[in-house]
Order: sequence, then structure tokens, then C-alpha cells
Amino acid sequence: MPTEDDFYREKRYCPSCRTYVQFLSSLRRAHCIECDGPVQLFSDADREAFQALCRGRDPEDAPRRA
Ligand SMILES: [Zn+2]
Repeated sequence: MPTEDDFYREKRYCPSCRTYVQFLSSLRRAHCIECDGPVQLFSDADREAFQALCRGRDPEDAPRRA
């Protein structure tokens, strides 16, 4: 059963196609099977969301000191 993790492993974001696509990997780069352009792991929006996750939770969610 596919998980979200599988989705990100098997597809990458193509800026030219503006969507997540299947890709082919060569030694030095991965490229889109649709347009042969370079692909990246995340879209800009998803990368920002991911970085926000890495920075930690929103301060409003942090536990307050008693
Ligand atoms: Zn493409």
C-alpha cells in the first residue's frame, strides 16, 4: 500500500511541467520523463513547508511554561 513517503521517493517536481512527475536518474542528475528537464525534490511551496517543519512548530503551538 503506497504511502506519502513512497510518493516523494518516486516522483519529483518538474518546474517546467509545474507538477510532480516520474523521473529518470542518471549518474549526475535526475530528469523529467515528460519534458526531459531537470527535476527537484520539492516544489518551492513544498520546500518551504518542509523547511518550516524542520525549524520546529509554530511558536503558538509550543507548550507554555507554568
Ligand atoms: Zn517536465
